[in-house]
Amino acid sequence: MTVRYLKKGKDDQAIAESDAKVRAIVETILADIEKRGDDAVRDLSKKFDNWAPRDFHLGQAEIEAAVKQLSPLQIEDIKFAQKQIGGFATIQRASMKDVEVETMPGVVLGHKHIPVNAVGCYIPGGKYPMIASAHMSVLTAKVAGVRRVVSTAPPFQGAPHPAIVAAMHFAGADEILVLGGVQAIGAMALGTGSIAAVDMLVGPGNMYVAEAKRQLFGRVGIDLFAGPTETLVIADSTADAEMCAVDLLGQAEHGPTSPAILLTTDETLARETLAEIDRQLRILPTADVARISWADYGQVILCDTDEEMIEVADDLAYEHVQVLTKDPDFFLKHLTNYGALFLGPRTNVSFGDKVIGTNHTLPTKRAARYTGGLWVGKFIKTCTYQKVTSDEASALIGEYGSRLCHMENFAGHAEQANLRVRRYGDRADVP
Ligand code: NAD
Repeated sequence: MTVRYLKKGKDDQAIAESDAKVRAIVETILADIEKRGDDAVRDLSKKFDNWAPRDFHLGQAEIEAAVKQLSPLQIEDIKFAQKQIGGFATIQRASMKDVEVETMPGVVLGHKHIPVNAVGCYIPGGKYPMIASAHMSVLTAKVAGVRRVVSTAPPFQGAPHPAIVAAMHFAGADEILVLGGVQAIGAMALGTGSIAAVDMLVGPGNMYVAEAKRQLFGRVGIDLFAGPTETLVIADSTADAEMCAVDLLGQAEHGPTSPAILLTTDETLARETLAEIDRQLRILPTADVARISWADYGQVILCDTDEEMIEVADDLAYEHVQVLTKDPDFFLKHLTNYGALFLGPRTNVSFGDKVIGTNHTLPTKRAARYTGGLWVGKFIKTCTYQKVTSDEASALIGEYGSRLCHMENFAGHAEQANLRVRRYGDRADVP
């Protein structure tokens, strides 16, 4: 394969060193929360967000006051987005069928879908108030049937952000906290005097938030590793440079560590896109952030064929993949590693991020090799059960089971099976 780089980002070594620093910081913070509970959470929130109320929960009156700060159009926009996201989640939930089947006479096997009981939803809000994450996490958890949904976001510029609070409330959050970063993740997972522990954490966040979830996995469930946004634009000669540049910078503005890559078979388009990015960086209001992430993490990769682009894209396993080619469905058919696909020029990542109905919490750092994004199914456990309804079936399975247990030297297991052979079969024991 002939892959060439017109522009490269930071090398792997630099990224690994920065990841190691984040790991160590998060470890220290979580240990402090485990040891000192609410006192640690309050100190950390004061240190990172200058926010230390007596109680991090919002009361009903504060929630209603937040909703009142929104204009009717803002409320309508939030409700429109929630209708799309909730609607698609409802259809996805309906596609998850319980199963019960008689696999041989007298043997009944099944599985049931059971929602997790208590979930903590992290809504990011450091740099931008990410209202949409409330729909993506809280609403989807509620559609899945989660009984207790705790939702938290950091204070935005010193106070709870009214639109985030309203979106959490409209989505059905049972508890709303104003708390950010590792302290929010740690408090919800470990529990403190004032915040009862949850069973599972979901939602996107910056590298500290994503790393905290990763370190807590096992003690609680997590949805997936959803760290700083990544975007890959796959384009051929049918794409135009303005659209490629807009779709790259539109995600690079997320934060200074958000990579954006153009992957193309057309060198002229690649060079025009680079020039267009320079032009747009002179006028984009969020250029201060996008310029850093493009300089440090932006890449332009050239391939000879669509098949080569598939190979490179599958290896990158990026969070967002925008396809601007003559035949986007070719990529839908053949790509295997991506968080979400955006097919053709009429759609784009911001539609998925905010409103169209698919979930925006998506795998980063190559987690797309083994998981898709957040959806109702992530909140639901598929739990199996079995029944044996006839004596003959119990004795028959018992015979096979006993011999298989003996092959593994499990005498106790074998006796469990043998007891059924003796009790329900017409023979004494399995030799
Ligand atoms: P955030 O809410 O994730 O993080 C803010 C918190 O970070 C603060 O409350 C603070 O406590 C903590 N923090 C800041 N500096 C720290 C430090 N030095 N040490 C320890 N903690 C520190 O908000 P954000 O920072 O704006 O990041 C949002 C992130 O979410 C972006 O990176 C964005 O790309 C990402 N995102 C990802 C997805 C996805 O699905 N993968 C979706 C949406 C957003």
